[in-house]
Amino acid sequence: MSGCGLCPDGGATPAELAGPALDADGWLAGVLRGYEVPGWFAVFPPRHVESVDALSDGEADELGGALRRLTAAVRSATSCEKVYAVSFGERLPHFHVLIMAVPADLPAELRGAALIGGKDRLNDPAAACDVAQQVAERLRRP
Ligand SMILES: [Zn+2]
Repeated sequence: MSGCGLCPDGGATPAELAGPALDADGWLAGVLRGYEVPGWFAVFPPRHVESVDALSDGEADELGGALRRLTAAVRSATSCEKVYAVSFGERLPHFHVLIMAVPADLPAELRGAALIGGKDRLNDPAAACDVAQQVAERLRRP
């Protein structure tokens, strides 16, 4: 879909990503603009679909592996306590799952659904970029 902002355009980094596009078992992953929190990534299919039920059977099978591999890389790079995986699709129509590292010392009022609303308190673009480089390195390993 032209102008989507998450659709890859001839191999270029999608416009909604703040850094390089990472390869998570064939799915694209990266730090979303405005969600530059260390250990937070969006993972999305390389073609435009708007909901999980629009995926092909093969893509649905691939999604599980991509989420597992990316989550393991995030956990390894951040030593976080938990990793959330959520999908809303209110702001960006291209189906994506947001992977969110949850540090052990995160205040109770920012846990669960409140975490997405508290993102500005956790925003740290330089640290998010550093974690993204570590995650990219882990994803390149066989
Ligand atoms: Zn798209």
